[in-house]
Amino acid sequence: MRATGPDELVGWIAASGLLAVMVWCAVRWLIHGKSVPDPWDAATAARLDDPEIKPLCTRCLCPHEETDWFCPNCGMAASPTTNWMPYLNYLSLGDVFRHGTSGDIPLHWTAVLGYILVSSIYYGGFVVPFIWLSPLLGSLAAIPGLVFLAFYWRQLAGNIRRHRDEQDHRPTPIEAGTGIAPAG
Ligand SMILES: [Zn+2]
Repeated sequence: MRATGPDELVGWIAASGLLAVMVWCAVRWLIHGKSVPDPWDAATAARLDDPEIKPLCTRCLCPHEETDWFCPNCGMAASPTTNWMPYLNYLSLGDVFRHGTSGDIPLHWTAVLGYILVSSIYYGGFVVPFIWLSPLLGSLAAIPGLVFLAFYWRQLAGNIRRHRDEQDHRPTPIEAGTGIAPAG
């Protein structure tokens, strides 16, 4: 075993001491730290505990029951546990994929990147067990996988184009009569 020199020992003691101080500060901050007040008033805070108040869908703002797995209006996963349940998570994933090809909300480029990545994994991923069984089976399974993937990307591109066209042809606030006319 390598002998530890006095310099190295001092270094270890200093590092351990520093770590102990950092942990102690973190624990102190967690216990004694000031809690931030709610950004809403007391009446709103009281209403949040009212059992009559229903949760809202985070996509369409439609109220739904606390026990609903999916929004009854738009089909988005409504419960915090839906996406963790086997079988239900596939329905939720289907809703996400559908939103990419026909959703009403324009897609940010990061979302498009995510759609390309996830669709490649899901449409291409099922080929893996076939490749494991035999390379020939894998090649045969890749054909429908690539067809589905190409079809999905075509629909995704169509949705992106639709949102871009709508944005280009959206009237300006002045054209729509809701803006302030320029002075002069
Ligand atoms: Zn909804």
